[in-house]
Amino acid sequence: MRSATAEQFAPVLRVHAAVLGDCTPAVDPEVARKRIAQGQVAYDALKMLASCGDLVPRFIRVLDAFEVAGFVSNSDRRAILDSELDVDDLVAGWFTGDRTPRDCRRRIARQAAIVIGNALLRAATTRVGAPSVWKTWTRVVCPCCGGSPDIALIERGAERTLICARCDAQWRSPRAGCLGCDIAESPGVARIANPQLGYVLVMCSACGRFLKERPRRGLDSLVVERAITAELDLAAEQRGLRI
Ligand SMILES: [Zn+2]
Ligand SMILES: [Zn+2]
Repeated sequence: MRSATAEQFAPVLRVHAAVLGDCTPAVDPEVARKRIAQGQVAYDALKMLASCGDLVPRFIRVLDAFEVAGFVSNSDRRAILDSELDVDDLVAGWFTGDRTPRDCRRRIARQAAIVIGNALLRAATTRVGAPSVWKTWTRVVCPCCGGSPDIALIERGAERTLICARCDAQWRSPRAGCLGCDIAESPGVARIANPQLGYVLVMCSACGRFLKERPRRGLDSLVVERAITAELDLAAEQRGLRI
């Protein structure tokens, strides 16, 4: 299933790479690094979004790729474009942690906006520098964009590397259990393994957070990993949890 999904995603990955390469988010690396050294996140995600110009042409390209990949029908794609959704609002809504819409077309539109938002912030984070810039970072929020991590990679031993759900920055976690609880092992933590996906869904009823854990080995493109595990997010969201 994993290889089929990766193959199916090829047109989307091409547009994602093109947006990543074309955009020029206004990051001042010197300011960004100084902020990180002071324990502040490197840049403001919404300001970065505003510095990247018109999102609509990119949105149209992503929706085209969705249709080629078979994720959206021709009529649904046209209906989404005709509905004149505010793409900036969709991306900003994702930044600020809105819920997955129930309506199918709105959900696809949001998915397309996420592809764009992720590419723009990923480009911004690349400009901040290499992960060594934030190697002493100990906070739970992303050192670059301030987002929450959605995936944790297990390395040798118990060490975990967190991945920002918005910009894909990776940083070491000082905590083993729940990221939200300020104690080593929260009593509310449940771990549900999904061997088929190769993930463990870590949920905390004490603070209402969840995280998807997997070994670092064999990690696919993050766009694909998130598509494969969308059902885990949905299951956690239905329990009222957030990343
Ligand atoms: Zn981030
Ligand atoms: Zn917790």
